[in-house]
Amino acid sequence: MFTGVASRTPVFLIAAVVGAGCTHLSPVAAPVVVKRAQLHMGTLVSITAVASTSDRANGAINAGFAEIKRLEQLLSTWIPESELSSVNASAGKAPVHVSPETVAVVRRSLQVAEMTGGAFNIAIGPAVDAWNVIEAQRIPPNDELEALKARISLGGVHLDEQARTIYLERAGMRIDVGGIGKGYAADQAVATMEKAGAIAGVVALSGDIKAFGQLPGGKKFPVGIQHPRREGEVLLFIDLQDEAISTAGDYERYFDHEGVRYHHILDPATLQPARGCQSVSVIAKDGVWADGLDTGIFVMGPARGMELVERLDDVEAVIVDHEGHVHISSGLVHRVRFPNEPDEKGRPQ
Ligand code: ADP
Ligand code: MG
Repeated sequence: MFTGVASRTPVFLIAAVVGAGCTHLSPVAAPVVVKRAQLHMGTLVSITAVASTSDRANGAINAGFAEIKRLEQLLSTWIPESELSSVNASAGKAPVHVSPETVAVVRRSLQVAEMTGGAFNIAIGPAVDAWNVIEAQRIPPNDELEALKARISLGGVHLDEQARTIYLERAGMRIDVGGIGKGYAADQAVATMEKAGAIAGVVALSGDIKAFGQLPGGKKFPVGIQHPRREGEVLLFIDLQDEAISTAGDYERYFDHEGVRYHHILDPATLQPARGCQSVSVIAKDGVWADGLDTGIFVMGPARGMELVERLDDVEAVIVDHEGHVHISSGLVHRVRFPNEPDEKGRPQ
């Protein structure tokens, strides 16, 4: 997970929140807004904090970054000493004792796998490697993919929550939480910021964004979803409050061969890049659900994916199908704004 490859940001915060509230002349000091960015988990992480003083806002931001760094040390498969790297190194040999956080991410991953009928699969790493879309740009032959199937079966992942161990039953298996870990990290960072005294804020790990509270003046945090085929263009805007958004797209890591796009989200049933969608954005209360579900729904495709979204409470989605048609879930239709549409005050976006 957490590759060092810079990818296009699929969801982004709308700028111009920094400094809001600083010019009020009221006797009670207005809250301040501070925003800072650092590189973590192979991506640009930006944190915005609203607090009573800039010291407090900066303290909350520091706490948020520290939490993300701590989780990266546990979960990144790019770090040989991480807990997940130990689990993978012990595949076929022995269970590995892990922290409550690692148990939590793997438990959620297995839950999303169940919800999506196996479309989300944290054991798919060996197939992702066989494709290696960033560097190798090769199409692995079918027999090579077939031979990997036993190693990517989720039935071989044994999580013992009581003992706090994870055991992968076959040599060569491995788990990778690249499709869900950034959402989990956003949740944890937000909890840490609240403890550190932030009254509102946003944590954005590239396209995995979680917002809490409101900006000074009662404005919600606006985000734009990237258009999957027009680089730098916004598909639509949504205001977030106490919720998370996450986007999975076929335009982040891919190569083209003879007019076909080969990208990094694989269908566990075929081990081929999933073909139903160009992008899937999921909104949920928690980042861990939004992130896990965006990848799973991307694999399920627009029809089955939207059916699942409509069945789940507090989960909404924007799905761009493979033809570029935009599908918006029923609870979100009235909350989205398209570019050039006037905002609630009649101003153009
Ligand atoms: P990112 O924010 O890095 O783009 P996504 O949420 O879009 O992450 O998930 C993409 C990553 O998930 C891939 O890089 C790969 O490691 C992993 N992945 C690919 N296919 C699947 C799948 N079917 N289930 C779970 N994870 C997957
Ligand atoms: Mg995801």
